[in-house]
Amino acid sequence: MSLPDGLAERLAHVLGPGGYLTDPHDTAPFCTGWRDGWTGQTSLVALPDTTEKVAEVVRLCYAARVPIVPQGGNTGLTGGSQPHDHGREIVLSTRRLNRIRALDLDNDTMTVEAGVVLQTIQEEAARHDRLFPLSLAAEGSCQIGGNLATNAGGTQVLRYGNARALVLGLEVVLADGRVWDGLRGLRKDNTGYDLKDLFIGAEGTLGIITAAVLRLFPRPTDVQTALVAVPSPTAAVALLTRLKAALGDQVTAFELIARICFDLALELIDGVQDPLAEPSPWYVLVEVAGHGEPGTLAEPLTDALGEAVEAGLVTDATLASSGDQRAQLWRVREEQAEVQKRAGASIKHDVSVPISRIPQFLDEAGAALTAAYPGARLVAFGHVGDGNLHYNPLQPKDADRDTFAREIGRINRIVHDLVVAHGGSISAEHGLGRLRRDEAAHYKSAVELDLMRRIKHALDPLDLMNPGKVLPPQG
Ligand code: FAD
Ligand code: ZN
Repeated sequence: MSLPDGLAERLAHVLGPGGYLTDPHDTAPFCTGWRDGWTGQTSLVALPDTTEKVAEVVRLCYAARVPIVPQGGNTGLTGGSQPHDHGREIVLSTRRLNRIRALDLDNDTMTVEAGVVLQTIQEEAARHDRLFPLSLAAEGSCQIGGNLATNAGGTQVLRYGNARALVLGLEVVLADGRVWDGLRGLRKDNTGYDLKDLFIGAEGTLGIITAAVLRLFPRPTDVQTALVAVPSPTAAVALLTRLKAALGDQVTAFELIARICFDLALELIDGVQDPLAEPSPWYVLVEVAGHGEPGTLAEPLTDALGEAVEAGLVTDATLASSGDQRAQLWRVREEQAEVQKRAGASIKHDVSVPISRIPQFLDEAGAALTAAYPGARLVAFGHVGDGNLHYNPLQPKDADRDTFAREIGRINRIVHDLVVAHGGSISAEHGLGRLRRDEAAHYKSAVELDLMRRIKHALDPLDLMNPGKVLPPQG
């Protein structure tokens, strides 16, 4: 499908040489998802390098009634950042909108454009002896605009909150091409509705985020990382409660990992080692961070773990004694996305329940799935400190990949019904996109869906901002 007459030329004129792509060979990577085979078509990828150009592109598309798919690093996992197959949408990539606009160290803020890669922000903060705590395995390629549009979580949420908690202000190009300048660096601002919170987590369906004021934090001077063997998720949750009592909010990460994740990583990824002498059914990766002399927290952490051993909550543990060892301990956790790509068909879930309900949820989901699919491997890992699990049943070893993959509807229903029964959410951090759009609509109340539709209609009445994502089309 091509664009309405003359639009491509007008867009080319605004964007200038190097500011757009039309060759199918060049646009193809913008139409393909990272993992689950989402594909689509577009006849033009816009690569604006200023907010004004973003606004001009949106105005032209608004006038021509052409929908826009905003795209950052294209690492999202729900089919939100690729166009549909019909080819009538353009993709607007923020790749060239990548300047750090300002740094205010006394205010502990950094103002960045949407296309700055997350890792670049972390490095810039570190250069000024600050921490930008958002951290996830895709940080070398995801962009802050995408992180905010998906309200990304990651491994430091326990201490610092998710992306939403790290933003003070936003600049957004609205669906009609007007620019909302909300780039305020304020921690207190009670002047009415919090507009920025509408755009955070909206997955590009309400407008295009072009810049943000981010919060910075003091950089920890002492980080201790331990891999801890625990007999059960119940023990893991009890350990978390103990560590929080002993170390307060110095506990920055608490990741539960099932043994199967180690087995698969050892089999499928080069250079992975088993960190402890004996296999354990479950592990927890714990990180604590503080501001004292390097090494200060090793003793309190070791003491707390020692007491947990005596209480029967921990069977073994190892503390990283160097940056290399720390990276080794994190490796199995961080390689899980890649591991599962290689391991066969798995049905991914990104769910949250109250932390206290995690053991029961795992018991019940495990029992229901093994009854329905004998031999299914229960891959489970995630940010248990936030009540968030990546719960990805993997096909039985000898089963046919496609046959298992086709069970997605039934498996989702088993897992998500249990999640909802425990007061949980069917998408804790990856968002809805296309993957979980209908599933979310299935579980949300009529009132909640109606409120969401009204907000969408108020901000994007022509349905031109990433249509078909987050909310099902209305029949
Ligand atoms: P994209 O994938 O390009 O876009 C994501 C969505 O945001 C799309 O709907 C898109 O239209 C919209 N969007 C992008 N930019 C803008 C903008 N400027 N304005 C408006 N809308 C926009 N996510 C987590 O939360 N926690 C994790 O721990 C985590 N780990 C991951 C590990 C791996 C290996 C991978 C591949 C992904 C992981 N993710 C995780 C998912 C993904 O990395 C995040 O959702 C990330 O925030 C997406 O950023 P992006 O720049 O790639 O956005
Ligand atoms: Zn995660």
